[in-house]
Amino acid sequence: MKIEYSTDNKFAHVESSTIGRWYDVTMYSCTCPDYLHRQKKVNGKCKHMIAAFFQLKSENISQIKKESVFEKGIDVDEAYKLFGDEKIEYLLNRQIIIEHKHKFIRLK
Ligand SMILES: [Zn+2]
Repeated sequence: MKIEYSTDNKFAHVESSTIGRWYDVTMYSCTCPDYLHRQKKVNGKCKHMIAAFFQLKSENISQIKKESVFEKGIDVDEAYKLFGDEKIEYLLNRQIIIEHKHKFIRLK
């Protein structure tokens, strides 16, 4: 699945399984039929939203885990600037990093 992000990373074009067809995707909506006809009614997420904003590829995770910044601890604001909201939320949700005295520290 090809994904292209806008410069602020809040908007993505995601290619559908039908080659050459693209959907407009944000964290809150998608223009695909699954979202419009099913997920929207139940506040769900289609596979494009998940792929673009809610799932990190394993190589991204291992790359972040290797980031030495988290070993020493990195200022919270600095970390958000470096990695973006979604990545930080992802790492926090999985307790890969924790917040301590306004710094993020790696746990795992
Ligand atoms: Zn979709």
